[in-house]
Amino acid sequence: MDKCSFCGRSRKETNLLVAGIAGHICDSCIEQAHGILTEEFKKKSSFDLDGIKLMTPAEIKTFLDEYVVGQDQAKKFLSVAVYNHYKRLMQPSADDEVEIEKSNILLVGETGTGKTLLARTIARMLHVPFAIVDATVLTEAGYVGEDIESILTRLLQAADYNVKAAERGIVFIDEIDKIARKGDNPSITRDVSGEGVQQGLLKLLEGSIVNVPPQGGRKHPEQKMVAVDTKNILFICGGAFDGIERKIAQRLNTRVVGYAAVENREAIDPTNLLQYIAPMDLKAFGLIPEIIGRLPILTYLHPLDRDTLRMILTEPKNSIVKQYTKLFEMDNIKLTFSEEVLDYIVDKAVEFKLGARGLRSICETIMMDYMFESPGHKIDKLEITLDIAREKLEKAERRLLKAS
Ligand code: ADP
Repeated sequence: MDKCSFCGRSRKETNLLVAGIAGHICDSCIEQAHGILTEEFKKKSSFDLDGIKLMTPAEIKTFLDEYVVGQDQAKKFLSVAVYNHYKRLMQPSADDEVEIEKSNILLVGETGTGKTLLARTIARMLHVPFAIVDATVLTEAGYVGEDIESILTRLLQAADYNVKAAERGIVFIDEIDKIARKGDNPSITRDVSGEGVQQGLLKLLEGSIVNVPPQGGRKHPEQKMVAVDTKNILFICGGAFDGIERKIAQRLNTRVVGYAAVENREAIDPTNLLQYIAPMDLKAFGLIPEIIGRLPILTYLHPLDRDTLRMILTEPKNSIVKQYTKLFEMDNIKLTFSEEVLDYIVDKAVEFKLGARGLRSICETIMMDYMFESPGHKIDKLEITLDIAREKLEKAERRLLKAS
């Protein structure tokens, strides 16, 4: 009689008995074996640092270059910070060693200039868990919103609940400017001052042991907390800091009064003041000094000009144009865009003040009908000309105008 070679159950006692060359295995033994495998894989997770080859900052930057156009300074700073993060993690812990402190980063730049893209791209090449969180949802305990600890919940999830791995991870906190103190920033309408959230965040940044609800949120009060040490977690923060240019201008103006006034004034490029950002501007904006002190690496992103937008459309490894070409290729259609169309798309994105995000929505508008119709039709090539692009976009604009 057939029976499971592992547990000895007969065919009748199982739901399924699978035959192999040397014997049989039943459904419950398969399930158990699967469980063992998952556990084993978890232990030897992809977050193991043993044997990984450390990329140099220059190599990290080259990798970023494939996906992110321009923003050289931000890339450089990010590459060094990530490289140093790895070095800290690999540092043998001897008492007499010089302890390398972590250097959390603050990226300042208009919305849509590539802050999140940089963070995501970095995440692709990492061997440590990585989570992206949005500071706008954070509130002090007791208010509607998410507790600060939820940041670490995300990281734990990204680490498959491997606490040791999470404790070496990287967190990207977007829109950090939204928790600036209300008094200095009238655009904030939350009912909390923002300072409570900053204080909470400070604890994470400076390194402490935090009790984290593994399921997140406040919906599962019964869950067992997990203690996470944030000492070795690298924090990358990003924010647009709308209006900070005024603070920078004020500071630059007051500084240049005096002897060197003329000389300094000449050196300042008034069209892009963000490049002169300094910690004191963040203070004037409403971040508490302790937070600023915990984000020692401060860098900026350039606003995207027309040339950059044009490059974003075609250059990156997964550029919008490459993505569409690939989509159509899968239906055996050779898709091409004329150069004029690409210029036109950029012009429209600039006209609508949509930045890089607009490039995609404009392309979607132009391509939608074709994406709907082409797959059923036996065509093997499609060229998007300026006339087509104009027609599709103008039609959509008319529709929008009518609707509003
Ligand atoms: P931010 O986080 O600064 O608001 P994102 O990184 O989310 O902006 O950028 C929005 C979109 O614009 C991205 O998905 C990306 O396609 C595009 N983009 C923005 N900046 C760049 C850039 N420098 N290089 C390539 N694509 C970019």
